[in-house]
Amino acid sequence: MNYYDYIIIGSGIAGLYIALLAIERGSVLILTKGSIDDCNTKYAQGGIAAPIGKGDSPESHFEDTMAAGGGLCDAEAVRILVNEAAECITDLIGLGVPFDTLNGEITLTREAAHSVPRVIHAGGDATGEHIEVTLSQQVRSSPIEVLEHCLATEILVENDKVKGVKALDCRAGSMEEYSCRFLILATGGVGRLFKYTTNSDVVTGDGIALAFEAGAEICDMEFFQFHPTVLRLPGVAPFLITEAVRGEGGILRNVEGYRFMPDYVAEAELAPRDIVARSIVYEMKKTHSDRVFLDVTHLPPRLITTRIPHIYRFCRQHGMDNAEELIPVAPAAPY
Ligand SMILES: Cc1cc2nc3c(=O)[nH]c(=O)nc-3n(C[C@H](O)[C@H](O)[C@H](O)COP(=O)(O)OP(=O)(O)OC[C@H]3O[C@@H](n4cnc5c(N)ncnc54)[C@H](O)[C@@H]3O)c2cc1C
Repeated sequence: MNYYDYIIIGSGIAGLYIALLAIERGSVLILTKGSIDDCNTKYAQGGIAAPIGKGDSPESHFEDTMAAGGGLCDAEAVRILVNEAAECITDLIGLGVPFDTLNGEITLTREAAHSVPRVIHAGGDATGEHIEVTLSQQVRSSPIEVLEHCLATEILVENDKVKGVKALDCRAGSMEEYSCRFLILATGGVGRLFKYTTNSDVVTGDGIALAFEAGAEICDMEFFQFHPTVLRLPGVAPFLITEAVRGEGGILRNVEGYRFMPDYVAEAELAPRDIVARSIVYEMKKTHSDRVFLDVTHLPPRLITTRIPHIYRFCRQHGMDNAEELIPVAPAAPY
């Protein structure tokens, strides 16, 4: 059985980043069930929240996150997130992720539930793609071993200790076993379990199932986020319209053209995602429709083509010009 200090399952941002840290301490194997870039990470659009702007602070990020969580957040986990975010962004920059800048400064966008502009992005609305490409190049040029098309099927446990992993080589059709000191599950979320989702085909909750079968305690499974604005076009796979569109001034209208969010909550379109998603569902029921509209026609066309170029191009390919037409959207499972 091949032995590694670290075996990491998954090659999204979590798997690749931890692999680049772990290789400083020992041998590393990444197992991933598709190609290295088959993951949700490459689809991430709007960007990453980190309290790096002038006048921002981890404390303010903490307060915003706790408020958005409606009293349900694990305060200790939120503290780690807000305290370590800036350092992680510095690491990503050091690894070569080309975050967008203006006059030498990182540009920040405001998104829902954040009290200040705090979202760092790359390529406008192609943040995840830039991160995935950069980190996978770094991994490829390091001594980290990567086995693609390799599906982890069982965590090997001996005397209540994790010993390794069993995996199917999907191309050869053979089962292999790998042993390790540390096994790291970086298998992402479960979005593909839902009918309407923006997730990659590989995101099917395997890590949670593998851990459960190996005896791990699983918690918080009832928490699942639905993104409020996913493109709803007949015959077109659900495509996320990033929160940053509302952050830049996009507004929501029902099928009758009425702007409804101020009726539900003072923050209107910039309320936390769960509130906006629920309000959209109420509004869809009220108007007997399967969609509402995101309106950016009042924004400067240049802002649309530079800040959300990827979305603009996608919509154009499907016959819509965001600068002149409303975007049909509905909630869907995002992560
Ligand atoms: C359309 C879209 C837009 C998004 N926009 C944003 C955004 O703007 N900002 C933000 O912060 N987040 C955003 N997200 C969420 C973000 O992309 C994810 O939270 C993040 O990328 C998850 O990274 P990960 O490494 O944990 O998982 P993933 O990137 O999903 O990677 C999981 C990896 O595990 C592998 N894997 C799974 N099961 C197995 C198995 N059994 N054996 C072997 N390998 C396995 C997969 O092949 C994959 O390589 C977005 C997500 C989507 C889908």
